[in-house]
Amino acid sequence: MNYTVKQIAEITNAQIMGDKNLVIRNIAFDSRIIYSIKNTAFIAINTHKNSGEKFIESAIDRGISVIISEHQYPQFENVTWILVENSVAFLQKLAQYHFKHSHIKSIGITGSNGKTILKEWLYQCLWNEFPTVKSPKSFNSQIGLPLSLLQINDSYKLGIFEVGISKPHEMEKLEDIFHPEIGLLTHIGNAHAANFKSEEELIDEKIKLFKDSKVIVYNGDHLLVAKKIHELYSSKKIISYGLKNNNNVFIKEGITKDDNITVVYFDEEISFPVHQKDEATLTNALALITVLKELNIDNQKIIEKINSLKAVEMRLEAIEGIKNNMIINDSFNLDLDSLKTALQFLNEYKKSKKSLVLTDIVGVNSNSKELYEEVSELVNDQKFDSVFLIGEEISKFTELFKSKTSTFLNTQELIDSKHLTEIENQLILLKGARKFEIEKLKDILELRKHDTVLEINLNAILHNINYHKSLLKSGTKMMAMVKANAYGLGSYEISEFLQHHHIDYLGVAYADEGIELRKKGITTPIIIMNPEQHSYEAIIEYNLEPEIYSFRVLELFYEAVQKSGYDKIYPIHIKLETGMHRLGFKDFELDQLSETLRQKNVKVQSIFSHLSSSDMPEEKEFTIRQFDVFEKNSSYLIEKLNYIPIRHILNSSGITSYTDHQYDMVRIGIGMIGESPCSEIQKQLQSVVSFKTVISQISTVDTGESVGYSRRYKADHPSRIATIPVGYADGIPRLIGNQTGSLGVNKVLAPIVGNLCMDMMMINVDNIPNVKEGDTVTIFNAKPSLKEFADYCKTITYEVLTSISPRVKRIYIKD
Ligand SMILES: *Cc1c(COP(=O)(O)O)cnc(C)c1O
Repeated sequence: MNYTVKQIAEITNAQIMGDKNLVIRNIAFDSRIIYSIKNTAFIAINTHKNSGEKFIESAIDRGISVIISEHQYPQFENVTWILVENSVAFLQKLAQYHFKHSHIKSIGITGSNGKTILKEWLYQCLWNEFPTVKSPKSFNSQIGLPLSLLQINDSYKLGIFEVGISKPHEMEKLEDIFHPEIGLLTHIGNAHAANFKSEEELIDEKIKLFKDSKVIVYNGDHLLVAKKIHELYSSKKIISYGLKNNNNVFIKEGITKDDNITVVYFDEEISFPVHQKDEATLTNALALITVLKELNIDNQKIIEKINSLKAVEMRLEAIEGIKNNMIINDSFNLDLDSLKTALQFLNEYKKSKKSLVLTDIVGVNSNSKELYEEVSELVNDQKFDSVFLIGEEISKFTELFKSKTSTFLNTQELIDSKHLTEIENQLILLKGARKFEIEKLKDILELRKHDTVLEINLNAILHNINYHKSLLKSGTKMMAMVKANAYGLGSYEISEFLQHHHIDYLGVAYADEGIELRKKGITTPIIIMNPEQHSYEAIIEYNLEPEIYSFRVLELFYEAVQKSGYDKIYPIHIKLETGMHRLGFKDFELDQLSETLRQKNVKVQSIFSHLSSSDMPEEKEFTIRQFDVFEKNSSYLIEKLNYIPIRHILNSSGITSYTDHQYDMVRIGIGMIGESPCSEIQKQLQSVVSFKTVISQISTVDTGESVGYSRRYKADHPSRIATIPVGYADGIPRLIGNQTGSLGVNKVLAPIVGNLCMDMMMINVDNIPNVKEGDTVTIFNAKPSLKEFADYCKTITYEVLTSISPRVKRIYIKD
């Protein structure tokens, strides 16, 4: 955008106090992440939860001189105020005007899942074809969409925007502001269905976005969606994509051996290799291809673009560096937009000095002088201590950069100069196009202080989930149990990954765990297995779904719902007791239960129970009895309600041993971590967790000398003993000392000798050839396996995992 204060006031009927002629190009709404103060106005957004007005002062402190707000604060001098009646309505009105008067081709993406990833993919494929603007992060709400639209300016030819809703009637408002020429509808799941009476209402609301679209591209695997689109929009160009072969765009006869897939696009075929073969990724790829075709990108180019796509991950990592530096690494791609995001990210860290490593921006069609002028302006705003430019192109524009600037032809040249390793106590941003491989700099600058790590392989989790899914009917939903910090692996990281892969539900034990996930942006429905009374209010506020297992919980929770002023139907889950004797309603309580439920404004989303012994073939008879009780009691309850909630009873080993009892959903836990009691199944699963450390020291112990506390090990011949920096405080039970357990070194097992210490233990490495200090030691992964390790500890794998101390650094691998 590019308006004077006066124009903004005219468009939105606002009042001005101050300088009418200032030019505004950006609107910032978060005072912490203002990346440029020039031509930027700060808007204090008031929502029913929060007032942005308390941040006006910090915005002014940062140098902002135009404030948009519902109230004026006279204590701040030399500030121009744009006074508005309602801050959100103001944004929407301005965005509406701005979009209406822009001349870009626009793509609007809506749906329950996949919006952000598709937007990012489209952007990665299109930004070097057309100057493209997109919503930042997942800005798609009543506030996020207007802010996104306001980024449009004359230099852009294409805009890709996400549109998200969570309540009825929201889409009308958004469609009023933004009517995309190409409408893209991704997967519709029941992720946000809580506020809607039915799936149909949700679909009706979402597709309102396409009222003025010329082309609608939609996921046609969902029959109701297909029906609705055809009913409402038969006069438009509509294209369906999906895994079923009755779509206009689909995948031909599955995937062949060499991992190539063939996509049928009307009467054409396009083949390319795929690395990720899960349904969500394939479906998103179909949507991507359809839109690219719609923009007349030729097939050869489409294949090239798909091949160079990388999964959208958290591109910005913050890493502790040597010499008390903090490294922000973004060596994934480089364009103006991601540069802005990275600069914003810098402002979230409090370090007074900072440096920048920046490479050529590659593959852009636009005029490079203009481009680098804009780059230098953004960079100059940040007042870097030093700037290191890498690449022939950007080096030509050195004089545009006001900081102390040095130039290098390639990354190696910068490494050889040793400039970087001299930096102390700074924030260092590494921002480069992929071909410059500036991740090498990260390796040099990173402080490696974690010898001991718990490595978690996310691809293996996906493999294990898909394996379990392959045993189920295609419509069966899956809940992932992420209680107890996702079995010790990290509840947010695992949940975020699973959400990305369209898991239907997440399950946690306590409200706190669910709240943490919501705060970090997890929107997938979350069930709370053990809702404690003090947490009911928070459960309601964070849109979590409680397990109701007794009349006491039902009454108290419902009281909290009423008190909170929640005026819709609250989703709950009913737990039935079928033999575990832990929590749940018993058969004689069902009449009263159905009666009570009918009187309350709640919706039973599901009825479920839990198996006590699904992993024990010898308890098959008992398990079958549990199924019988569940079938009988859940059917009885459903009969009494006048709607049909979904049902579920299987945990991981239930899925593999009692597949016929899958009902509408299953709950996977240990299975996704790659553990099964059945050896045949175990072979199909991949190991997810690897607990590793390195040898601190190796010493030779003579005959008769002892090792460790209480002299529990005495050498009967001269022995080589390695000390490793892991002890019982890391969550390893002390009972595995004294040769009860062994650890893996160079794929050979080395027995633990002597008592475990708090932070260390010793192993005998006599049998290990060529062993040296610094070598990797495997506490468990393959040799010993997690199961073998649990056996040493005389416990089950679940307890091993959940006992690993939080001080052990978790690292997530994904390729
Ligand atoms: C933990 C849990 C599960 C998962 O069990 P696994 O054996 O790890 O698959 C399923 N359902 C409930 C209610 C649980 O508490």
